[in-house]
Parts: sequence; C-alpha cells; structure tokens
Amino acid sequence: MRRSAQPCHGRLALFWVMALWAFLAGCGLAQAQDSRLSALAQLDPARSGITGDATQTDLRLGLSQPVAWRAFLLDNPPRLVVDFREVDFSAQDPAVMLGKGGKSGAVQVLRWGPFRPGWSRLVAELSGPMKIAAAQLRTGEAPELDISLTPVSKDKFETTQGDPNSALWDLPQPAPVPAPILRQDGSRPLRVVLDPGHGGIDPGAEAEGTSEAVLVLTFARELKEALTRAGIDVVMTRNENVFVPLETRLTIARKSEADLFISLHADALASGKATGTAIYMLDEKATDDASQKLAERHDRADILAGVDLDGHGDDVARVLMDLARTETRPRTVRFTQVLVGALKSAGVTLYKHPVQGADFSVLKSADFPSVLIELGFLDSERDRKHLLDDSWRKTTAAAITQAVQSWAQSDAAEARLLRQ
Ligand SMILES: [Zn+2]
Repeated sequence: MRRSAQPCHGRLALFWVMALWAFLAGCGLAQAQDSRLSALAQLDPARSGITGDATQTDLRLGLSQPVAWRAFLLDNPPRLVVDFREVDFSAQDPAVMLGKGGKSGAVQVLRWGPFRPGWSRLVAELSGPMKIAAAQLRTGEAPELDISLTPVSKDKFETTQGDPNSALWDLPQPAPVPAPILRQDGSRPLRVVLDPGHGGIDPGAEAEGTSEAVLVLTFARELKEALTRAGIDVVMTRNENVFVPLETRLTIARKSEADLFISLHADALASGKATGTAIYMLDEKATDDASQKLAERHDRADILAGVDLDGHGDDVARVLMDLARTETRPRTVRFTQVLVGALKSAGVTLYKHPVQGADFSVLKSADFPSVLIELGFLDSERDRKHLLDDSWRKTTAAAITQAVQSWAQSDAAEARLLRQ
C-alpha cells in the first residue's frame, strides 16, 4: 500500500482543508456544547443515495449533524473510502443507498460500519479507475456530504489513489480496542477490584461526625489485606479520600482485567429504618423504592461533581455490553448467594432482604461479575458502631474473603467445563 511516499495532490489537499475545517468546527463545538458532539451523527436514508451513469457517479449522504470526514481512493480493487468521525450507520443497510438492481453508477458494492473507536468508514467498490471530481460537506439545516466521481485512465488513477497518511487524521489518537477479559479458570491468581464508594468532594452519607467515604475506605484497605493474604490480586479504584467518577471506577476495573468487582458503601436511607448488611446486583428495575433512590443518589454525586454523564460508553458498544451482561449475570448471582451464606455463618447481621437489585451505574460493566455491598446503614446507630469496630470489620472482611475464594473455585471449574 502506498502511504506517506505519495505526493500531496492538489485535489486531495483541498479535501484535507475541508476535513480540517470540519474537524476544527467540531472542536469548537466540543468546547461550546459538549453534549452535541458526544451524540453520534445519524445517517438519514431519505436524504441519501447514489445516482450515476457512465460519465459521473454522485454519492449523497444526509447527516443529522456536520462531522469531520475525509475521502480517498484505493486500488485493487478500485475503491472509494470515506471516513467519518462519529457517524452511526448501525441502523441502516447500505442497500438503501443503491439504486434498483443493487448498482448505482460506478458503485458495485457498498459497505459501512465502525472503523476504529469513534470513527466510521464507508467503502464503495468501483467498477473501474475513477477520480474524486468534487467533495463537499454542506452544513446548515440539513448537513449533507456530496462526493462526485468521474472515470479516469488507469495511469492517472495510480497517481491519485493511496491511503493519505495524514497527521491530522491521526488526531485524536484512537483508543485501543480493549480485548475481552479472559474468564478466570484457576490457572492464574484471581483479580478482585475493590471500589470504596464516594470520596473527596462527595462524602456520601454523613452521621455523627463520620462519613461513608472515610468508613468504606478504611474497610476496603482492611479487606484488601485479607484478600491479598489469601493469594488474591487486589486493585483499588481509590486508595485515598479523593473523588473518582463512576466511569473512571469502571475503566480502572476493566484495565485491571477484573475477575470480580466489589463496590463498598454504607449509605443512609431516607426512611432511617434500615439496618444490617445488604448486597446489590444490577437490575434495571430496582427491587424497591429505597434501592431506586440509592442508585439515583450515587449517579447524582457524579453530576454534582461536574462529570458529564453523556460522555459514557465511548469505548464500549452498548449492544455488546448487554449481551455480555447476560453471560456475567449468573456468575454474579452465584457470588451473592455464596456471600450471603458466608456472612450469615460469620454472624454478620444482614438487612431484612439481604439481596437487592438496583440500577447502579457502577455495576453496569459487562466484562466481570459486579456487586455492591452496603456494609451497613450509616443512620443506624448499631451499623455505625459496627463500622467503627475493629473486630466487626475483621470478621466481615474474613467472611467476604472466604466467599470470594469459594466462589472463585466453582466459577473456575465451570469455566474449564465450558471450554471443553
Ligand atoms: Zn454510597
């Protein structure tokens, strides 16, 4: 493939300028109005199509908003390539672009889809050597990208085609696509990510001069020690009293290739009647009102701290996440069962309904089983005493460690079985 050795062609240079303009316009927009940029542009099939004859082929792509783009030609076979920043093609079949008989002008076959994280690509296979006679992104009410192709001789085509290895297009650097986390099968140490809730400007629940953020950090440090002694790798999402956005907590877990994610909390419920330890699993429909309120409060902490929740999911395809969640969910359920058993036999007082479902953002990772433990409720005097008591914390940390070990064993056995 020809790359940087290509001379910068006059016409190609023009497309760069336009792509640069669109890109810079996008950056300006990002500063002014973040939410608009983070939304994917959609293709409007009603305003899109390919028409043409032997002398000219016109591509028309109606978009919901202007995006950065570039167009170039490749050989073997002759192809037109158009790259876009954040255009969502997923809902559309490329066939909507083609005329009757499945062919339009010089376009034989059309494909599109995600190229790299944040970028989409359209590839049109052409019937012969062509040149880009015109290319323009119309902005305004109905943004539209128009590209016209005209036939050229094979010689001429060879001098104008090639992947333009532009520094502009390499910005921003695409995030590497994360490899799926290999399910643990006992052949390596288990990795547990501990996530002490809240922190920094978000103290969580507060009562009698103490805060949830501080208490759960203390507990997390002690639990880390207990798990480490049992030969388990532990990664903490925070190890100080600092604010960590929910999304960052998940990114840390994903980067650490977590086998199990445990979020630690000790919230206060508005009703003030709750007491005992409770375990939460992700459930889009909360088990009860109190659970729903807890989930909302945790998300609100991020909003109050100035985190743009619209920026979610840049590195994860949501559809894939939903699929993967159906796989991790039974593993999560089994962990909660083992955990409830271990806490019970250690004599830890449990909430009247010890296993709850709630729509916690921090549990939404698809890649690994995730639970949230409400160690106690901070507005309950008894729970507060427990959390401040060294021996209660030691017993509870030991019970959780034992549950992690016994769950990991059966989970690994299942993984080996599934692999056969
Ligand atoms: Zn909390």
